[in-house]
Amino acid sequence: MTAFLKLLFRNRLAALGAVVLSAVLILVLLTPVLPLQNPDITATADRFQKPFTEGHLLGTDHLGRDLLSRLLHGTRLSLAVGIAAALIAATIGSAIGIVAGYFGGRADNIIMRGVDMLMAFPYILLALVIVAALGPGLMNALIAVAAVNVPFFARNIRGITVGLAGREFIDAARLAGMGHIRIILTELLPNVLPVIIIAMSTTVGWMILETAGLSFLGLGSQPPQADLGSMLGEARSALISHPHTSVVPGIMIFLIVMSINLLGDGVRDALDPRLRSGALSRPRAMTLVERKGEVPAPTDDLLAIQDLQTQFHVGDRVYRAVGGVSLSVKAGECLGVIGESGSGKSVTALSVMGLVASPPGVITGGAVRFQGEDLIGASYESLRQKRGDRVAYIFQDPLSTLHPLYRVGRQLSEAIQSHHDIPTAETQARAVQLLRDVRIPNAEARVDNYPHELSGGMRQRVGIAMALANEPDVIIADEPTTALDVTVQAQILSLLDDLQRERGLAIIFITHDFGVVAQLCDRIAVMYAGRIVEEGPTPSVLEAPAHPYTKRLIACVPELGGGQRALAAIPGLPPLVDDLPPGCAFASRCEKAQETCRTGEVMLKGDASRAVRCHYPEEAI
Ligand code: ADP
Ligand code: MG
Repeated sequence: MTAFLKLLFRNRLAALGAVVLSAVLILVLLTPVLPLQNPDITATADRFQKPFTEGHLLGTDHLGRDLLSRLLHGTRLSLAVGIAAALIAATIGSAIGIVAGYFGGRADNIIMRGVDMLMAFPYILLALVIVAALGPGLMNALIAVAAVNVPFFARNIRGITVGLAGREFIDAARLAGMGHIRIILTELLPNVLPVIIIAMSTTVGWMILETAGLSFLGLGSQPPQADLGSMLGEARSALISHPHTSVVPGIMIFLIVMSINLLGDGVRDALDPRLRSGALSRPRAMTLVERKGEVPAPTDDLLAIQDLQTQFHVGDRVYRAVGGVSLSVKAGECLGVIGESGSGKSVTALSVMGLVASPPGVITGGAVRFQGEDLIGASYESLRQKRGDRVAYIFQDPLSTLHPLYRVGRQLSEAIQSHHDIPTAETQARAVQLLRDVRIPNAEARVDNYPHELSGGMRQRVGIAMALANEPDVIIADEPTTALDVTVQAQILSLLDDLQRERGLAIIFITHDFGVVAQLCDRIAVMYAGRIVEEGPTPSVLEAPAHPYTKRLIACVPELGGGQRALAAIPGLPPLVDDLPPGCAFASRCEKAQETCRTGEVMLKGDASRAVRCHYPEEAI
C-alpha cells in the first residue's frame, strides 16, 4: 500500500489532483458543522449580491440565497450522487462482465448482446429517456446515470475475465474441486479488482458531469434543493448580467472533474503491474552503467568479459547477480558456462550487449571488450550496430523470441535488413539458405510458415538461423537446447560445431548440462552464486575437477551404461544473491569447508588456462 502511494505521488499531476480533491472532500464533509447560512432561505432584497460583500463571501443568487452555502451543500450532493452512481454502475457492470466472461458460450452471448443493445443508444439520450419514464428527481437521475454506465463496466471487465478464465490457475482451482462461486470470488475477483478500480477512478468525474447535466436540464435535483447542475441551470438566465452566479458552480465542477481525472490517471499508472516493479519508467534501451573502480586493460581476445559486476537494485535491496566474472573467447573457440539455475549465467550473457533490463539492473564494474573496444559505457548506437550483427544471441524459449504474426522468412529478412541495406528478394533467398543451413527439411516451403506451424525443435532452429543471419563473430547461446529432445539437440550441437570450425565463429554456450558441454566446448567455466569458481580445458575439468562444487555437480550426472550407483545430490541450496555470505559462497554446502573458507574473500588461483577459487581444491592446479 505504501509502495502504491509512493508511486502515485511521484506523479506530480496525480498528487495535485489528490490534494485538490481532498480539500473539496474535507470542505463538504465539514459543511453541516460550518457556520453557514441556510442554503434555501430566500431574501429577494439581497438578490445578485457581488462576491466578497458583507455576510456573503461568494455573493448571492437570483433569489438572494447565499452562494457559498449553496455551493458547499450542492457540491456535497453532486459528489454523493456521482460517487454512488459510479459504485452502483461498477458493481452491477462488473458482476455482469465477470459472469459473462467466466461462463462464456451461450450465457456470454445473451448477456453481451443485451449490453450491446444498451450501448447502441447515445447514452445521454438513454439517460433522458430513463428519467422521463421514472419522473424527474435526484434519485432517478442517479439511477439513469448508473444504468447508462453499466455497459461500459460490463464490456471492460468481461474482456479481462475472458483472458483470466482460460488461465492455468483457474483450471487448477477447478481441479481442486472448487465451485463456480468460490472460483469467482477467490480466484477471479482479486485479479479483476484493480481493473475495476482503475475503470471507476477514470469514470467518476464523468458521472458527476452527467448528473450535473441532468440537473441542469431540470431533471435532477428539484428546487429549492441545490446541486452543482441545478445551480448552473438557475444561473443561466443571468449569465451575462451577473456572471458570478454561473462562475462559482462552474469553477467547482471544473476543480472536481479535473482533480478526479488527474488522480484517476495516476491511480491507473500506479496500479499497472508492469510499472510497479521498478520506477514509473519503462526499461531503457541499454543497461544502466554506474561503474566504480578501474577499467581493466584490453586483451587480445575476440570477446573478453573482465571482472564484470551486474546488480539489481530493487528498493533498498541489492542483488549481486554477477559479482566479478571474467571470461574470454578467441575466434573459433567454444566456451561452456555451466552452473545451477540462478547462478547468474543469463545475467552475465545479457550484460555483454547491455540487454539487462534497467531498472532494476545496473552494471557496477568491470569491462566487456569486443575486439578490444569496451562495450560497457559505449554509446547506444555503437551497441545497436553490434547487436545481432557482430554478437548474436540464441535464447532458450524460441516461441517467445519469434513474432507470432509474421512468417519466419520475413523475420529472417528483417534480421538482415536491420543491419544491411539489401533488397528483400535477396534476403528472402538468403532466408531459405539459412533454413537449409540449420537443416530444416523442405526449407523453400517452410520460409512461408508462421512460428506456430513449426515444431519446437524447428522454431529453435529458426532462432539459431536468425542468430547466424548476419554471420556474427560471436554467438552467445543461453540454454538453447534445454527445451529440445535429445535427437534434435544432437543435430543442433553438431551444426554449431560445424559453424565454429568453418566460419571461425566464437561461441559462449550457457547450459547446466555437462553432456552438452563435453560434446561442444573447448573450455569450461563453472559459475556459482554470481562468480566463476573453476575454469579450464574441458577434458581437464571433467576428468579432474578441482572445485568441490564442480566435483559434486559432475557426480550428480548419471552415466549411461555405468551400472547402478548412488547419485549424490548436493545438499542445501545456493545462497540468495541479496544476502551473500562472506568468504566462499559454497562453504555451507561443502564438506571440506574450514573456518578460513567462511571468513575471508577466496581468490581465483591458477592462470588463464586453469584456475579454481578454493582453499582446499580436490586437485592441485
Ligand atoms: P541463471 O544462471 O539461471 O541464468 P540468472 O542469471 O537468470 O540465473 O539470475 C541470476 C540471479 O539474478 C538470480 O538469483 C535471480 O534471482 C537474480 N535476478 C535476475 N533478474 C532479476 C531481477 N529483475 N530482479 C532481481 N533479481 C534478479
Ligand atoms: Mg538463465
